[in-house]
Amino acid sequence: MTLKTGDQYLKSQIGRASEAHVLGKKTNKLEHHGLVEPSRKAVAFTYDAAHNPESKETLRAVSHLCKDEVNRFTHLHQSAEDLVKKIKMQRYCGAMTGCCFQRCVGLDAANAIYSTTFDCDRKHGTQFHDRFRNYWTWIQKEDLVVDGAMTDPKGDRGRRPKDQLDPDLFLRVKERKSGGVVISGAKLHQTGMLNSHEILIMPTMSMRHGEEPWAICCAIPIDTPGVRYIYGRQASDTRKLECDTFDVGNPIFGGQEVMTVFEDVFVPEERIFLDGQVDFTGTLVERFASYHRQSYGGCKVGVGDVLIGATELIARMNGVEKVSHVREKIVEMIHLNETLYCCGLACSSQGYPTPGGNYQVDLLLANVCKLNVTRFPYELARLATDVAGGLLGTMPSSADLDDPEVGPYIRKYLAANPNYDVLDRMKVLRLIENLTIGAGAVGYLVESMHGAGPPAAQRIMIGRQAQLDEKVDRVMSLLSISEL
Ligand code: SF4
Ligand code: FE
Repeated sequence: MTLKTGDQYLKSQIGRASEAHVLGKKTNKLEHHGLVEPSRKAVAFTYDAAHNPESKETLRAVSHLCKDEVNRFTHLHQSAEDLVKKIKMQRYCGAMTGCCFQRCVGLDAANAIYSTTFDCDRKHGTQFHDRFRNYWTWIQKEDLVVDGAMTDPKGDRGRRPKDQLDPDLFLRVKERKSGGVVISGAKLHQTGMLNSHEILIMPTMSMRHGEEPWAICCAIPIDTPGVRYIYGRQASDTRKLECDTFDVGNPIFGGQEVMTVFEDVFVPEERIFLDGQVDFTGTLVERFASYHRQSYGGCKVGVGDVLIGATELIARMNGVEKVSHVREKIVEMIHLNETLYCCGLACSSQGYPTPGGNYQVDLLLANVCKLNVTRFPYELARLATDVAGGLLGTMPSSADLDDPEVGPYIRKYLAANPNYDVLDRMKVLRLIENLTIGAGAVGYLVESMHGAGPPAAQRIMIGRQAQLDEKVDRVMSLLSISEL
């Protein structure tokens, strides 16, 4: 059994991805970088949770590949129950970290690639599925973090990949060499990239004939020569670099987004899982997107739990917890959050087996789930801001708190319900600030909108999956109507 602890994971990352650029500086000591550390701790949590008695049952699964217990973040779903457990695991991790714990993208990519390579081999006689099985067995045995890299920069949205002024705006095979291919391009918005061991690269959209070089799916280790990492900024991120991190809001954990550039990167044959089969690019994108849209019905709900808890607590600290409109707002937050959870559970429980054997979520319900996620967390954030009060955006810094001259005034004038310490009240306000307008809002809000595709993408899928003709036929039959 290879179930690493958080500590073993953190040690495994030392010295990796030495070419990262963070805030204008090339940094090779990422493990001690104030901006990176909180996000790494969030990933480490997913390892420790597989050992923690309260969560280990949810976090562990028996793999059909290596026939052993693995961390569920590397599991290929074998039943609808597995899909449900995935959602429970994500809600738990979100609620315990209050941020994006970054490990789901690789999980979703693996499940999509597993079934797609099976289908592709059956049609084209390729050998991708066995290759992927071997690769993923190794990932499971080593208990690694894999980043799923899908989103290309896309350049001029009105042009196809081959018509872009710069062909690298969609990641592509630039050259073929004996034993592999050379790829070039970039992937944007890469969640947890610098905390991963491996990168699973996938095409960003359905490709057409003539676009074979852009139909590439493959894996590379994070420290492959030619890959550059440019750290993404988040609102108020430099607060994490202050000596006293009180103002950060989330005292331990945080998310991570990275722009990743692939400059003539060699990929050996045994790590290639799709190469020019344009007819399977759409399938892969659709399956991955649906898994990731399901994911948000778990992780965002967990972070929503934190926001609801913080909002209720600040209401108590302010002495307004019994006021009727405050109660209504808290109940509304719960209702919205649990609706998202219902969606996550529904698309999971309606999961079905793919020809390859792993389970796929219900595509329609997963897209409904994600479309709700593009709205509800924003409403939760609005309600939290309403209940918390304006101090959320105007509170003095912790440095002033320590100032002998003004510190006492802050303590005196920010005191509210005497059952709570004024510093604790400030902590809760900072946490709500973090999730609604600070660094945490990248994961909780911006990612809710754009992660796994923007709302328009879900609407397209909902329109496609809704079987409208069948509904029309039923009405026609009910009313004995036929077309003239
Ligand atoms: Fe996982 Fe959610 Fe982060 Fe995506 S946004 S990696 S689903 S925690
Ligand atoms: Fe995401």
